[in-house]
Amino acid sequence: MTETVHSPIVTYASMLSLFALCPPFVILLWYTMVHQDGSVTQTSSFLWENGVQGLINIWPRPTAIAWKIIFCYGAFEAALQLLLPGKRVEGPISPTGNRPVYKDNGMAAYIVTLATYLVIWWFGIFNPAIVYDHLGEIFSALIFGSLVFCALLYIKGHVAPSSTDSGSCGNLIIDFYWGMELYPRIGKNFDIKVFTNCRFGMMSWAVLAVTYCIKQYEINGKVSDSMLVNTILMLVYVTKFFWWEAGYWNTMDIAHDRAGFYICWGCLVWVPSVYTSPGMYLVNHPVQLGTQLAIYILVAGILCIYINYDCDRQRQEFRRTNGKCLVWGRAPSKIVATYTTTSGETKTSLLLTSGWWGMARHFHYVPEILSSFFWTVPALFSNFLPYFYVIFLTILLFDRAKRDDDRCRSKYGKYWKLYCEKVKNRIIPGIY
Ligand code: NDP
Repeated sequence: MTETVHSPIVTYASMLSLFALCPPFVILLWYTMVHQDGSVTQTSSFLWENGVQGLINIWPRPTAIAWKIIFCYGAFEAALQLLLPGKRVEGPISPTGNRPVYKDNGMAAYIVTLATYLVIWWFGIFNPAIVYDHLGEIFSALIFGSLVFCALLYIKGHVAPSSTDSGSCGNLIIDFYWGMELYPRIGKNFDIKVFTNCRFGMMSWAVLAVTYCIKQYEINGKVSDSMLVNTILMLVYVTKFFWWEAGYWNTMDIAHDRAGFYICWGCLVWVPSVYTSPGMYLVNHPVQLGTQLAIYILVAGILCIYINYDCDRQRQEFRRTNGKCLVWGRAPSKIVATYTTTSGETKTSLLLTSGWWGMARHFHYVPEILSSFFWTVPALFSNFLPYFYVIFLTILLFDRAKRDDDRCRSKYGKYWKLYCEKVKNRIIPGIY
């Protein structure tokens, strides 16, 4: 029997809301941004007048062209993941003592993807604006397609698990929702979570950011400075992600969360639709900020992305060198923590208590949230909807910090208590 992340009640509530609210939300978000001028009030009055039938009427059916775009993109990314060369990288030891091995070719895949996209646009082979024109159908296809994908993952978890880091909690719904396998693979080398989370989800963020820019250019014959700031910041963020992708394979998403509906749906549907939404809004709202303001926002955003990167880098460098590194120019202060694996082995791990990790236990979420604010603020304040991602991310990360604290407390026991005594705040130094 495997342990589940949350209690069955929380799982049922979260699952019900994900099933019942998130798919219509994705469609309504797209509809409001693209067809209702970004105005929540306009969409609300449409729904008020037309009820559920109105929602059914605006819900785009997945069309052949939408499936074709998704299939070509997915197949291209899968091929790059398999074929591009990359350094061999080992992931963290799993709860049952396995160490997954990856090929670190994310940055190469990212460069090839964006270069190919721009080249096929430049030479008139494919117009990215088509993606924007069929966005609703694409999101609709992704909503249904990812459901089928997760059903297949569930079946695979039962009949052909890739490693011993797999198992059932005895409840079909919870297994489907939180997932069964930690490192599902096709064959020995094709890692499914690297595909869903990184090469499909995160890559789609960059591809759609470029798409929105090109669409605005097609409509207006130029790109507004607000769109430029938004696109550059989102691209810097995604570039940072792929630069550091091997580090991502050490984080909760990969090392602790199993491949189930919760995480896969998030990466396959929520990332392309909600994460990219500030850019989607700007397509039809070419705000002019003026050079000075645009530069201020750009610099502030880049600074936040850098600090977020540096927090992750500091923790990983500290762990990689076994604490034999400098943190802000000094020897790091640390806690040597022991824990027991599910197979009963005792292991040692180091907890950094200086640098960014001495300011708060999850300080890295502060610059993460601020970066998203800075790539949204070019939309200014005439509509609330572009800020949905910032609010969603804040809630997600505050919940994640609690989830991670709970997990670390049960993993490290008294050592985690010691860390909490040394570093009192969870996220915001001196406040929370
Ligand atoms: P991490 O997994 O990187 O960090 C938490 C883990 O690090 C803990 O589970 C623990 O794992 C270890 N750890 C905790 N405290 C210490 C310490 N003091 N010293 C050393 N190791 C420690 O966190 P996240 O996965 O949440 O974040 C990774 C990145 O992804 C961040 O940049 C974050 O902002 C970003 N992110 C973005 C999201 C988005 O939707 N935009 C969502 C989530 C994250 P162990 O068991 O190894 O001890």
